[in-house]
This record gives sequence, C-alpha cells and structure tokens, in this order.
Amino acid sequence: MTRYPNLFEPLDLGFTTLKNRVLMGSMHTGLEETKDWNRVAEFYAERARGGVALMVTGGMSPSPEGGVFPGAAGLFSDEDISNHKIVTDRVHENGGKIAMQILHAGRYAYGPDCVSASPVKSPISPFPPKELDEEGIKKQINDFIIATVRAKEAGYDGVEIMGSEGYFLNQFLVTHTNKRTDRWGGDYENRMRLPVEVVRRCREAVGPDFIIIYRISMIDLIPNGSTHAEVVQLAQAIEKAGATILNTGIGWHEARIPTIATSVPRRAFAWVTKKLMGKVSIPVITSNRINTPKVAEEVLAEGCADMVSMARPFLADSQFVLKAQADRADTIAPCIACNQACLDHTFSGKISTCLVNPRACYETELPILRAQETKQIAVVGAGPAGMSAAMTAAERGHNVTLFDRDSSLGGQLNVAKQVPGKEEFWGLVDWFETMLKEMGVETALGQTVSAGDLEGFDEVIIATGVVPRDPAIPGQDHSKVLGYLNVLKHGAPVGKKVAVIGAGGIGFDVAEFLVQEGESPSTNLPDWMAEWGVTDPESAPGGLAEGGAKPEAAARDVILLQRKAKALGKGLGKTTGWIHRMSLRMKNVRMIGGVNYEKIDDAGLHISFGEARENPEVLDVDNVVICAGQLSERSLADALEAKGINCHVIGGADVAAELDAKRAINQGVRLAAEL
Ligand code: FAD
Ligand code: NAP
Ligand code: SF4
Repeated sequence: MTRYPNLFEPLDLGFTTLKNRVLMGSMHTGLEETKDWNRVAEFYAERARGGVALMVTGGMSPSPEGGVFPGAAGLFSDEDISNHKIVTDRVHENGGKIAMQILHAGRYAYGPDCVSASPVKSPISPFPPKELDEEGIKKQINDFIIATVRAKEAGYDGVEIMGSEGYFLNQFLVTHTNKRTDRWGGDYENRMRLPVEVVRRCREAVGPDFIIIYRISMIDLIPNGSTHAEVVQLAQAIEKAGATILNTGIGWHEARIPTIATSVPRRAFAWVTKKLMGKVSIPVITSNRINTPKVAEEVLAEGCADMVSMARPFLADSQFVLKAQADRADTIAPCIACNQACLDHTFSGKISTCLVNPRACYETELPILRAQETKQIAVVGAGPAGMSAAMTAAERGHNVTLFDRDSSLGGQLNVAKQVPGKEEFWGLVDWFETMLKEMGVETALGQTVSAGDLEGFDEVIIATGVVPRDPAIPGQDHSKVLGYLNVLKHGAPVGKKVAVIGAGGIGFDVAEFLVQEGESPSTNLPDWMAEWGVTDPESAPGGLAEGGAKPEAAARDVILLQRKAKALGKGLGKTTGWIHRMSLRMKNVRMIGGVNYEKIDDAGLHISFGEARENPEVLDVDNVVICAGQLSERSLADALEAKGINCHVIGGADVAAELDAKRAINQGVRLAAEL
C-alpha cells in the first residue's frame, strides 16, 4: 500500500493514459541551444526512467519575434524536427511521455521585433512591443498551428500552449496590456478571443489524439489583472476549444510578489487552482512550491487539482517518482527553491543545473561510475563541499571517513537554516545525513582533525570551509559587537537597535533574522499572503490585496551598511535579490552605502562618508553585528602540505571569494567523481 495513493493513480485522458499524477513542468535549461541533441535527449530520458508521467519541454518559440531572446529555439525547419525526434524517441524508449511547450513571449521577448496586443512596454524589458494589426494576429495564430503540427511530426505526445506568466497570450487577456478597440480588445469576450482561437485552431490541425495543455494564469498578481470570473470563463472556453488539460500559471514575470522563491511557503497557490475544480471537466494541474511527495499527495487528497506539476524538483532529483514509489522519500534530493543554479543561470545565459545536483543537465558529462580500485579516503569538514565529496566517493565504492569538529553534519548550512525564509535548508541537511548513511560513509563528528590524524589514507580531501574576516575596526572588541555566528549559531541576545556591518548574502540574512520575531511567514501561508499583499482573486482582480502589502512590524530597528557606494544587495541572486531587498525595505531597514567605519564605542557605531571622511554620524545602536565576508580556513591544508602529504582542497577552504553552497557541492561531486 503506497503512502501516496492519489499521486500514483493513473489518469485516463481518453486516447492515452498517464501512469501517475506527476507532470514535470517546463524549464528553460538552455540545453536545446547547445545543439547537442544527445545531451538534450539524455536529460529527458533520465527523467523518463525516473517514472514521471509526462514532461513538458522548455519553451519553444513559434516564431523569431516570439522568442524569449533572439535565436531562441523552436521548430523552424525539417532539421529541427529530426533533432527533436532524437529526444522524443529516447523518451519513449525509456517509457516516458513528453509535450513541447510553445512559448510566445510577446512584449517579454528580449529584442526590438517583439509584438503584443498594444505598444505597452514591460517594466522588465527595454523593448517596446509593436502593436499587431489584424494580419499580424493571423500570422501569430498560424505560427502556433505550425509549431503544434511540427511538434506532432517530431514525435511529441502533445504541446503545452503557454498562456500565463504575462507572456503573449496573457497580454491579450488583461486591460493592463491590451488597449485595443477592435475584435481582439475591449470586453472580455474579445480579449480572450486570441488564446481561445489558438487552442481551437491547433486542435483542428492535429486531431483528437494529441495532448493539448493550456497553461492558464490563475492569479496574475499585477494591477488590473484578470478577475476570477474571467479566469473561469476563459478556462471553460479553452476546454470547449479542445484543450486536454489545464495547467496552472501563477503571477506575471513583472509581478512584485515572489511566486517560487524559497521564502514562498510550500504549496502556496494550490488553493487558487482549487477554485477552478468542478468548473471544468478536463483535468486541472496545480503548481508552485510543491517539492515533496507528501506535499503533492496532500494537494491532490484535498481536491486542489487532478495532477501536480513540479519542475525544479526534477533538476534536484531525476528519480523523484521512483523513490516516492519505493517509499524512500527521505532519499529524494530536495529542491530548496534557491534558484541559484537553475533560474539564475537561465537569466545569465548559462546552462541550468542544480545547486543540490550538479549532474542536472550535465548527465552525459558527469557520470558517477564505480571506481576501478577501492581507496581509503578521508574527508575533513562536513559542510556541503565535504558531504557531497564523501557521498559521491562512497557511491563509487570507496571507503570514506568524514570528519568534523562540530557535533553535527552540515557546516554553514546549519547557520543558513536559522534564517527566516531559508527553512528548506533543514531538509537539505537531513538529506545529506540520510545519504551519507545510505552510502556507508563513516562519520567522525566532534573531532578537530590535525595533520597527524590523516596518515594512512590513500586520498585526503580538505573541506574545512572558512573563517569570518576580521574587519579591524577600532573598538570592535566592545561588548556590543557580535559576529554573525554569535547571532545565528550561538543564539546571542541582540538589542532592539542594531547596525549590521557588511551587506553581502550573510548581512542580508542577518538583517532578515533580526527583523523577524515569532513564526516565519514562510511557514505560515496567511501571514505570508498578508505580508506580500496577496488575496483571493475573487475579491480583487489579479489577487492583489486592497491596501497592498501589510508586513508585521519589524522586531528591531536595523541599519545595514557597506563601504561600496553602490545600492545594497546588487550582488545577490539574479532572480531573488529583489525579494531580499524588498523584504527588508518593507521592514524599514535603513540601508546605507559608501560608509567608512570609524570606531565603535559606548555611543554606538561611528561612520563617515566618502574618501574625505565627511558627514560623520553616530549610529546609536545596542549591538553591531559583523558580517564582513570570509577567508579560507586553510590551516590544516597548509600543515599537510608542510608534512608532504598530498591533499585535495575544496569549497571555502579552496577559495572563499564568492563561495556558496552551489560551488561547494559542485566541487565536491566533481572531485569525487574522478578519484
Ligand atoms: P563549511 O560549510 O564552512 O563547512 C566546513 C566544515 O569544516 C565545518 O563544519 C567545520 O566545522 C569543519 N572544520 C573546519 N576545520 C576543521 C578541522 N580542523 N577538523 C574538523 N572539522 C573542521 N550558500 C548558498 O549557496 N545559498 C544560500 O542561501 C546561503 N545562505 C547562507 C546563509 C548564511 C547565514 C551563511 C552563514 C551561509 C550561507 N551560504 C549560502 C553559504 C554556504 O553555506 C557556504 O558557502 C557553504 O557552506 C561552504 O561550504 P564548505 O563545505 O566549503 O564549508
Ligand atoms: P560577501 O558576499 O563577500 O559580503 C561581504 C560584505 O562585507 C560585503 O558587503 C562587503 O562590502 C563587506 N566587507 C568586505 N570586507 C570588509 C571589511 N574589511 N570591512 C568591512 N566590511 C567588509 O560575503 P558574505 O555575506 O559573508 O557571504 C559569504 C558567502 O556566502 C557569499 O559568497 C555568498 O554568496 C554566500 N551566501 C549566499 C547567500 C544566498 O542567498 N545566495 C546568502 C548568504 C550567503 P564592502 O566591501 O562594500 O563593505
Ligand atoms: Fe531547486 Fe535550487 Fe536546484 Fe534550482 S538550483 S532546482 S531551485 S535546489
């Protein structure tokens, strides 16, 4: 008897059956653009082998003007069709099903040829779109039809027509972007004409036995977004037009409300999808921040949807479904929703991968193969670098001992998980612990290792991490001065007025920790919705609460400082930095750049500005918390080298600058894959 009966119930679509209720949602990985079709095929084949019922590809553009960026992938030629056939064949050989997403970006297309309903520039693109005339609209519809027909020819089991997230079809639906007065604008019947026509004509072109998923924006999270009644009206018209399944989209890309970041509570929007249940007779899929089989099962059991979509969890672990089926959910590598290696890469023009699983999208390049010779390996430091190296080396058959001076595994991940909004790090540490046991790694905790302890091993890996940088500020030994570890790791009491020195990732996290008291909104959906101003779209169009965001008052007055004269938080994650900045602004955190730290004394923190050390100011604070960056902890590596013992140095111990868990894990896995 499975723990997840709803998740593993097949779904009969009439002409075909999906083997369970799990869809791998669309992700732009950048793989298609490499034109290495074997690599693309292996990415999807590994996930097909992992048991997911249906996968959706990254968005394929129906036309050059509709591409997310110039040169975006699409099915434009016979050669494209045969390349895609490599992928669909491989998926089918491995027991999977795959649909191609057709993504027309409209005004989000990053190029001067972009088109939309009206010439309303998006706040996240420099290019104003051209307004389409009647002929132009006909051409776009035709492009969707051609793409659908070609997808069928290429062996896809279906298509997903992207109608949410503020892309082209979504732009016709709302008055925010559709100012037309012809038959494609004005009242709702006219504004929804385009998506309905696209679905109707695509269905006509491919016949009945082909999956057409329509991704509908359930809650736009923008001003003048769709009303709930409009969403229902559209869903019913899309069903009538011939869609097989409705998938959920949440929020436009330009919305200033986070929708998938780690601080968003799990299954935060399943209630929105539930509002559509019973209003249409085709299956409805829900999505966003569903990352464990337990959460997925709950969502289905509560009748929020007929199926769940998870995207990033399949980067973290391609075997998600099989592991859940085998009742080994504890071995599923968790997607912590950090975006660091997936979306942040996409938006920087890099191939996506996963912080937790560096093999994602590198399946052909980074195989984990059984070692030819079994070695005795010592790993010192049980942070992410050391744990991933130990786990991978053991997986390959080596005998591994993992040492740490702390009494628990995790290194700085145990510090990160204390930060409100980073609760997913708890599960990541638990997963490492499970996997280290599973792989037979011997752990030696509570042991500070010195060079003499490491004789007799075939390989020694040093992953001793970092030490906080000493900023050498006069008066920093004053009793009111604390380090970030005092606050986050050792629970030092902190007064009501605090200055935080250093505005990197850790400075921001410490500020977040200090302004929050009581339960984190990330684990309390009603609080989180109030904090960001999200409400039921039935009571407000687009789901934006009247009166906007209503954050709880800050628990402390916090001032965040840096020496650079730039805006604070510029170096934070590409797709998540704005959330951290906005979250602290909502708590009235004062952010000051361009400062010199003159001294700390009973009066507080003395600062001045610029090279001329002008405009001196005394920040009257109870505590000063130092988050001034980190330096490599290399003392053990240096001692080994002095003794002539070879070692491999990884993670923060190797390079502290721009260190994060993504690099630490990547380095650990890649090293261990070679030993
Ligand atoms: P560490 O995690 O520092 O681990 C080193 C380990 O070595 C420690 O456990 C230490 O006890 C042990 N050790 C040292 N010397 C010895 C010795 N002689 N003998 C035995 N054991 C020893 N990164 C992200 O990617 N995303 C985030 O959101 C994020 N948030 C963060 C939030 C905070 C508050 C902090 C502090 C860090 C955050 N990081 C984040 C950074 C991330 O945690 C680090 O980059 C990562 O942990 C570095 O990994 P590491 O394995 O190299 O070192
Ligand atoms: P960091 O990002 O390098 O930031 C260090 C901060 O300290 C900067 O604001 C810097 O700004 C300041 N600083 C540097 N030298 C100083 C000095 N001598 N005196 C005073 N201030 C000084 O490092 P971090 O915040 O310690 O984070 C460590 C790593 O963890 C980072 O690489 C980060 O990627 C990772 N991390 C990631 C996340 C995430 O969400 N992805 C979160 C937390 C941490 P000025 O030089 O302008 O003063
Ligand atoms: Fe999830 Fe982070 Fe991996 Fe992206 S990089 S898949 S968000 S764990």
